[in-house]
Amino acid sequence: MLTEIFVVALVLTSAVRLWLATRHRSHVAAHRGEVPLAFRDAIPLEAHQKAADYTVARAGLARTDVIIGALWLAVLTLGGGLQWMFDVATGLAGSGMLRDLVFIGIVTFASSLIDLPVLLWRTFVIEQGFGFNKMTLAMFFGDQIKHGLVGAAIGAPAVAAVLWIMGSLGSAWWVWAWAFWLSFSLALMVIYPTFIAPLFNKFEPMPAGELRSRIESLLERCGFRSEGLFVMDGSRRSAHGNAYFTGFGKGKRIVFFDTLLNRLGADEIEAVLAHELGHYKHHHIWKRVGWIAAGSFAFFALLGWLVDAPWFFAELGVTDPASWGHAMALTLFALVIPVFSFPLSPLLKLMSRKHEFEADAYAVAQTRADWLVAALVKLYRDNASTLTPDPLYSQFYDSHPPAALRVARLQSA
Ligand SMILES: [Zn+2]
Repeated sequence: MLTEIFVVALVLTSAVRLWLATRHRSHVAAHRGEVPLAFRDAIPLEAHQKAADYTVARAGLARTDVIIGALWLAVLTLGGGLQWMFDVATGLAGSGMLRDLVFIGIVTFASSLIDLPVLLWRTFVIEQGFGFNKMTLAMFFGDQIKHGLVGAAIGAPAVAAVLWIMGSLGSAWWVWAWAFWLSFSLALMVIYPTFIAPLFNKFEPMPAGELRSRIESLLERCGFRSEGLFVMDGSRRSAHGNAYFTGFGKGKRIVFFDTLLNRLGADEIEAVLAHELGHYKHHHIWKRVGWIAAGSFAFFALLGWLVDAPWFFAELGVTDPASWGHAMALTLFALVIPVFSFPLSPLLKLMSRKHEFEADAYAVAQTRADWLVAALVKLYRDNASTLTPDPLYSQFYDSHPPAALRVARLQSA
């Protein structure tokens, strides 16, 4: 039965995603003619229309991406792709841990090759066309290679550890694998901002000056150590501006893109910083970790049950019992589970949008609502973010509340 259930779920999930992207496109296109009332003073019609065209182009590419992704998953599973790659890995590396790692390496590499055309199109056609891309082809491929090497250097030992746990720690292995995976993810949250992100961008402490001293008092008031405040050279790759809060403990930082600092005034920067501090004050990272912990617990518990079930492999296109080991179970499960977990995404996004509202409220308490509104309006305008997303699409995909709702709430604060 699993074959049928999987096919139905894959078709349904893909159809819903295509339908949402199509709704989003039509909704944005239908509102292209007029700037929403609340933004009429701040955003010119021309900028609004650029945002609409940009959103329509991206949603169109997202549809292509959904189709390619679904076909690729079907090829890997029912089409026998995983079985074939496992046989290739066996031919190359014989058996044991090395064979397993070669197999997972082949699957990962082939999947990223499949993703490449969409990525190239997004960067060099859409981002380029709307004036956002700053990367050359050489830089793009340099990044890809670096990402691959860093991913292999960190991922291979972690996967090897999980496979070892699966094979060596008895029937309760999945609890240990979960505990390892969670600790590994937490370690990565410290390591990533401090050691890995600097391989791709320069991070510098915010330079001394009027702005710096102005925000130092805000940082002090909020109990955040000022060594955790960085400026990133985002302008090397893209004209999009952003700010984010990441990590915890010593790895905890607030990062401003240089592109954002160049465009916002001091008041606005202070309000954006206060918003990021709101995420820190409300322990949003830990709440997210709680969700990751619960989600990965369910993941490993389910994997623990499926790993010994012949039908799990056979019904998903892995026909040779000689390949029904831990590496295949892990890979197959990781590939198939998103098809079934997609209905949960509105829940996760809902939590994320709730956190954004909380951070906004904190920013209002520490600075001023009109500063944050001014900053957001500039960001929407300069990033060509649509002001009129399709409401249903937004529930599935948006980590931030829609512009109109967010600004309305700030203005009533
Ligand atoms: Zn935020």
